[in-house]
Amino acid sequence: MARIVVLGGDGFCGWPTALKLSAEGHQVAIIDNLSRRRIDAELGVESLTPIADMPGRIAAWKRVSGRTLSFANIDIAHDYDGLRAYLADFAPQTVVHFAEQRAAPYSMRDAAHKRYTVDNNINGTHNLLAALVELDLDAHLVHLGTMGVYGYDGDGLELPEGYLDVSVAGPNGTRYPRSILYPTQPGSVYHLTKSLDQLLFQFYARNDGLRITDLHQGIVWGTQTEETRLDPALINRFDYDGDYGTVLNRFLMQAVVGHPLTVHGTGGQTRAFINIQDTVRCVSLAVANPPARGERVHILNQVAETHRVSDLAELVAETTGAEVAFVDNPRKEAAENTLRVSNQTFRSLGLEPILLRDALLAETLEIADRYKDRYDVRAIPATALWTRNTRPGTLKSR
Ligand code: NAD
Repeated sequence: MARIVVLGGDGFCGWPTALKLSAEGHQVAIIDNLSRRRIDAELGVESLTPIADMPGRIAAWKRVSGRTLSFANIDIAHDYDGLRAYLADFAPQTVVHFAEQRAAPYSMRDAAHKRYTVDNNINGTHNLLAALVELDLDAHLVHLGTMGVYGYDGDGLELPEGYLDVSVAGPNGTRYPRSILYPTQPGSVYHLTKSLDQLLFQFYARNDGLRITDLHQGIVWGTQTEETRLDPALINRFDYDGDYGTVLNRFLMQAVVGHPLTVHGTGGQTRAFINIQDTVRCVSLAVANPPARGERVHILNQVAETHRVSDLAELVAETTGAEVAFVDNPRKEAAENTLRVSNQTFRSLGLEPILLRDALLAETLEIADRYKDRYDVRAIPATALWTRNTRPGTLKSR
């Protein structure tokens, strides 16, 4: 069993992942600066599910599993010495890196939020890479990236896992084969930081032989996992606000409280999805299958299925009887796109993903219903504008 550090282990994906890895018998340490909780306070919103504080979470895990999780409050973007000292002492064999600002709308609010997102995400990732090299730690780095780096061109091409095999014309008609990073087309400053992360990884894998896996993850839905269900103090976040709430959580919450499901634009945007239980399974599979030293960065698409936003709304409406309303899209993005994605590596490692149609009612809707008294209607509208001339939230039609 390995010593594993989970950076960002207080967050929506990080917390259930830390529990899963601990349940598997690994020695798990969490590093988090609790910035996500402060952002809730800044936005005047909170998780629909009541989240215990970190000591409460760790004590509950000890109670139900007998296992110990350690925790350090370190800002990995601005406390390099603290991060370095912790890594030197713990000597992890694996580092799982979730510790970034991850909401696209939040990253587009204004110049201050754009600068915060770039500063936090790029510095944090780079500090980690520099510390691994400085300490000569041969830890496998597993990073959570996003499907959003590919952009959503929608011409029917199947998105490969990170690399594109091309041949470039040379002199005398010679063609040179190359495998290059898939050209990125980030749709927000947040997605831009994930695109830049990829270059940092490529450099450090080549230059220093770091072993790195970058997981290009789809939009995560669902709340609970096998471990977070074991005690109320272990419950995971459920974000439904206009910045951090992903589209499905927003629809589910709207359905439960009798609000129309607000679809941005035509709802023709197609996106990739994965259940939180499969997120933790995939991270565990990635941890168990590191690249060799000197190998290029492993890039895996961590997705289960794709859906058009309007189909998603129909699915929730069918299940709950809610109405659907179309509102102006605050984002600058194609009104319609198709999306095909290869998830061959995780499939070959044995992933049988949970699908929305099978599991929607069973779990997520139940959570939305159980905690509906904590729901705050003011939290739902998206307020961040991608460009100065878009106005979000205007109801256009049913
Ligand atoms: P989250 O905001 O819930 O969790 C991130 C955690 O990192 C928070 O607990 C935060 O306090 C911590 N953190 C942020 N900056 C830090 C810093 N400088 N130092 C220490 N800790 C810091 O986000 P999440 O939904 O759990 O996402 C985790 C990762 O997965 C992100 O990198 C995100 O880009 C990626 N991802 C998430 C989704 C999704 O749908 N949630 C989809 C694709 C990719």
